[in-house]
Amino acid sequence: MTYRDCYEWGKAALEKAKVAEFALDARFLLEDICGTNRNDLLVHGDRDVTGEQQALYEAAIEKRAQRIPLQHITGTQDFMGLTFRVNENVLIPRQDTEILVEEILPHLSSGVRILDMCTGSGCILISLLHYSLWAEGVGADISPKALEVAKRNREALLKPDRQVSFVESNLFENVEGTFDIIVSNPPYIRTEVIKGLMPEVKDHEPMLALDGSEDGLYFYRRIAAESKSYLRREGRLFFEIGYDQAEEVKQLMEEAGFIEVTVVKDFAGLDRVVHGYLA
Ligand code: GLN
Repeated sequence: MTYRDCYEWGKAALEKAKVAEFALDARFLLEDICGTNRNDLLVHGDRDVTGEQQALYEAAIEKRAQRIPLQHITGTQDFMGLTFRVNENVLIPRQDTEILVEEILPHLSSGVRILDMCTGSGCILISLLHYSLWAEGVGADISPKALEVAKRNREALLKPDRQVSFVESNLFENVEGTFDIIVSNPPYIRTEVIKGLMPEVKDHEPMLALDGSEDGLYFYRRIAAESKSYLRREGRLFFEIGYDQAEEVKQLMEEAGFIEVTVVKDFAGLDRVVHGYLA
């Protein structure tokens, strides 16, 4: 079978399975398996693939047609220009979250200490430390299986001499010390909404990373109130939020004593980040 025949077959199979980005996913899987890039389809489409490549591609397309997320098949997701390992135990890093990281980067002067609450794959903390050579940090998560993924990402993406640790903790329970910045992209979807999400999310991503309780605000409430004991003077709290949560989260932060609470929109024009600091 030629490279192009494989692609056309995969594309048709994924379209039939109602995969939203069927053409893109068919191409990404083929490139992942053959070690090629997007030019190969245009320039070398008539080359034959090996029998092994074809078998691997068929298996991958079959999985994707069952609505297993692309990233669970390839095992990776790019975020902030870095390639993170992912599996079913962590939320797949979202491009939306890059705006959160970009809001924090200008605050990372030398020696700044960051806490990433609900760190998951570690994508937020690790990219902050990757782009800010002198910052240090702690990533906390309730899930030991998520922390295994975060630690693998840390080994792959940060130099071994960086000051970074990961702790298994139910919110602040096992967190020690104080921080200049606390960041969190906590679970924030209302329980009721989850069953209407696409199968890739609701059937394959960890419920623990999605469910923000009945009103979606459980983690914001707890983190806004409790982070005060862990923030240094003039410390800052940064949250990623759902597009319709800005007013409520802003209010929670103000009630907890944060000032200059600011809402930032993402590239799609939706409210995405809320941050403020302690006077
Ligand atoms: N902090 C991680 C991320 O942004 C995990 C978030 C979560 O599990 N809700 O990808």
